[in-house]
Formats: sequence, C-alpha cells, structure tokens
Amino acid sequence: MSLDPRDFRKAGQAALHDESLRIALSRLKTHFALGRARAVERYGQEEWKALREQGRAIRDYALANLDTLLEQFERAVVTRGGHVHWARDAKEAREIVLRILQDAGAKSVIKGKSMVSEEIGLNPFLEASGIAPVETDLGEYIVQLRREPPSHIIAPAFHLNKEDVAETFREAHAALDPDRPLIKRTELVAEARRMLRARFESADAGITGANFLTAEEGAAVLVTNEGNGDLTRLLPKTHIVFTGVEKVVANLEQAAVLLRLLTRSATGQDISSYVTVMRGPRALGEADGPENFHVVLVDNGRTRLLGTEAEEVLRCIRCAACLNHCPVYAAVGGHSYGATYTGPIGAALNPGLMGVDVARHHPNASTFCGRCAEVCPVKIPLPKIMRHWRAREYASGLAPKSMMAGLGIWAFFAKHPALYRVAAANGARLLKLMARNGRVHALPLMHNWFAVRDFPAPQGKTFRELWAARK
Ligand code: SF4
Repeated sequence: MSLDPRDFRKAGQAALHDESLRIALSRLKTHFALGRARAVERYGQEEWKALREQGRAIRDYALANLDTLLEQFERAVVTRGGHVHWARDAKEAREIVLRILQDAGAKSVIKGKSMVSEEIGLNPFLEASGIAPVETDLGEYIVQLRREPPSHIIAPAFHLNKEDVAETFREAHAALDPDRPLIKRTELVAEARRMLRARFESADAGITGANFLTAEEGAAVLVTNEGNGDLTRLLPKTHIVFTGVEKVVANLEQAAVLLRLLTRSATGQDISSYVTVMRGPRALGEADGPENFHVVLVDNGRTRLLGTEAEEVLRCIRCAACLNHCPVYAAVGGHSYGATYTGPIGAALNPGLMGVDVARHHPNASTFCGRCAEVCPVKIPLPKIMRHWRAREYASGLAPKSMMAGLGIWAFFAKHPALYRVAAANGARLLKLMARNGRVHALPLMHNWFAVRDFPAPQGKTFRELWAARK
C-alpha cells in the first residue's frame, strides 16, 4: 500500500504479487461490470445512449455556469436557515469543519462516506484536534478500523475478504465475546450495526458527502444503500454536508437524470436503497432533522481546471464504472495509486488536483483500451485527458530520460517521411527475423516490458505498402 502517488510503480509491482488482492480484484467483473451491463440492457441500449447524452449536457451546463449556480444554491440554503462555507483549498476546508464543530460544542462526530473528506485528510486532522470521527458506511468503518485509506470509490473495503474483516473486528471489538461466530457476512454486518448504533445515538454532529447539489432548491442529494447517511444527518444536532464545488446542477429534475445514470453505472441498481434530499435544518413542525445545517463547498484545485483541456473531468459523478472496467486497476488495485481517486478517473483528475510532478505516473498507467470512456455515464473522454497530462509531463521534462530520448528519435523520423518509410520497413523486417513461432519475445532496452508479455511479429505488407498498392 502506498500513501504517495510518486510510489505508484513500486506499489503496483508489490500489488501484482499479492495473492489475496488478486482474488478480491477478480470480483470486479461479477460484482460491478456484469451488474452494470444488465442494468443497461434492462434500460434499453438506445435509451441508455440518449440518457448518457442528456447527462453529459447537464454536467456541461453546470460547469459552464458554475459561478451563478453555486451562488443560487447558496441563496436557497441561506433562505431555509442553513449556512454555506467556501473552502479554497484543503487547509481552509479542514479549518472550516473544525470551527463549525467547535462552535457547536461537538465532541463526537459520525460520518457518512465522503471522498472529498478523504481527499483533504479530514479524519486525521480532526483526530489531531481532539475530535475522533467515526465512519458509518460499512466499508469505510472497516478501513478506518484498519487505519487504511479506501481502495475503491464506492466500495472502500473491496480489497478485503470476509476473513480479513472478521480478524479486524476481533481486534477492534476486543470487549466482545472472543468465541462469537464471525464467519457469515450477516454476522459481520450485524456486529458492525450493533457497534455503530451506540455511536449514532450519542453523536453531537454528523458529516456526510453529497452526490449532487441543486441550485434552484438549495438541496444536497445523497445516495446510499445502508441508510447510514440518513441516520448521520437526522440524529445529531449539527449536520455538515461536505462536498466539491463541481457537484452542483441546476435543479432536482436534472439531478434525477444523473441519478438514473449513477446507480446503474455504479452498482447495476435501477435505483439505490436510499436517495436523500437534504434541504436545511429542521423546519417548524418537522419531526426530525438537525438544528444546524452547514454546507462546505470545497474547491481544492477544481476551478483551476475550468477552461483547460482537462475540464471535462469535472463532469464526473463518481460512479466508479471506469475503475470497474479498467485492466490496470484490476491488476494493481486502488491502494497502489497513493491517492483518493484511483483508476482512470484518478489518472485524469489527480495531475490536475495534485500537480503533474506528483501524480505523473497515473496517466501513464493506462493501456488506452478505451473501455473507461465507453462506460462513463457522462461521456468523459478519459484517455484524451490522460494523453493531455502525458504531453504536459513530457513538455515539463518530468518524463524519464529514456522515454524522452525515445520520443525524440520517433519525432525526428516522423518529421522526415522518407526516412520514416525506410526505418519502418526495415524495422518490420528486423522484427520478423527476430520472431520465434510468430512472436517477438525480446528487444534491446525493453527487458522490463518483455518480462511479462510478448507481441505478434509483423505479418504481410506494411501499411504504406498496402496504401501504395491501393492507389
Ligand atoms: S469518470 Fe465517468 S465512469 Fe469514472 S467515476 Fe467519473 S463518471 Fe464514473
């Protein structure tokens, strides 16, 4: 496991030899990819295409009008008695949350799943400030007990099997009967529920994320399958919605379109078990709800991407479909990335949020097979954005010297077509001579590449020869 994106290659190598991780990652297909495919089938291929187009347009409209929509959202929240806070970066975001909690006199905090809070390191900061937040999403609760970051956007403990979880619970819940059975999934879930129940009842404040914010209604929309989001929001006196500025859309109607895309792309569900629409503190006559309602809007590098070649990455609705279909993620898992956002969305987003120098390995960790873009519900051209970051890496001189030299040689030939033609034809002939049983197994300076793969020897004529023959 790595906590630094710069260690991606080393962490990835280690992950490739982790047998239990291999077994866990092999479930990506059955758990998620298959479910998504069936959900799309049920919805209808043509209708799905149209829905994706609608989703893309909704997100593009939101990004083009981000400033006005966010201000409209703020006015609507304030009108209903809530508070909106703006955080330019991670430090400001952490300090705002701490201030709200201190003002509310909160000692105990429960949390629903929020990737933005992972991104800015909220939990360690609150712990260091004397407030220990307790995660209430089952997967988040498990990784929190193990003091690990989540390994998947929607399934934080996906890298673990149930024996790992049982072991974690036995260590963490030391006061319980050591001979209790913890074999079945139901037993594990029941124990987590029992432990968390007391936390829900005694918490002073609750922090949740939001899948969407709607400007017209001033609402935060939250999707969960465990109901922990509702308990986190309703039981404590103070509720904080903690989310990124890009989550805003024009209204609930548009959020409903995105919901149809989100749940089918994420878990293959037509709709999640709970969809919560949060609109301010408890109103007069309402039976439940928080007394204080705060929304913290985090930028942390997002608006910097507006108007750049990477802007489209801000359309993301965090469904994780791109991870679930990515051969690289399926080989190395989430912890290798050393970042909150992993897989193709991480590769497209992290260099923008963290800097190309820090996250430059991520966009290189792609085969460019294009499956991520094919399944992305809001049609983000992920490979195109990764290519943009690769070009930035090259232009900044951050790429390895061998790669810079190789690309330099290639560029020289590409600029001299006659030489390119001769070199390509000779190269193809040479590869044919070097092949054994129709496959090339080694080339100078490419020992690592060939350590785990080979490639077919060129067959027949070159493209240019075929082209010339056609003419
Ligand atoms: S990039 Fe697309 S597929 Fe990946 S998490 Fe975001 S919305 Fe889902």
